[in-house]
Amino acid sequence: MTRASASVLLWQQKDFRLLEPVVEEKKEDKSSTQCRKCHRSINPDDVYCRHCGERQSQSAHWLYHPFTLIILAFVFIGPFAIPLVMRSPFLNKRNKMILSFTITLYTFFTLYMVYRILIPAIDQWQELREELGLTGIY
Ligand SMILES: [Zn+2]
Repeated sequence: MTRASASVLLWQQKDFRLLEPVVEEKKEDKSSTQCRKCHRSINPDDVYCRHCGERQSQSAHWLYHPFTLIILAFVFIGPFAIPLVMRSPFLNKRNKMILSFTITLYTFFTLYMVYRILIPAIDQWQELREELGLTGIY
């Protein structure tokens, strides 16, 4: 099974759960496991906890994988990856904070480097204008 079809299957299971309301909760006693977040009993085949909504399956979407998140944050979308980090089921609270903080630091560092490059460029531009005998700020 490909990852894409697996996530489609998970999505369908979630929908299935939403279509079957409260009546299901009666058969909690037998075949049930604990939610890994709120520790209340749920069906073993539940993908999401019916009490707190925590995802139970380990095979979460690849987008939330730490490797994907790091590539996204440091190469493509920067601080916009932080919401994904916070929702990732692969990271605990402490690692989420560390990664978000690192992304934030990296963002400010990048902005600072752009600023450092931009200031000399503007100075050179003004020197060039003065040499050409042009006046005014820009
Ligand atoms: Zn739960």
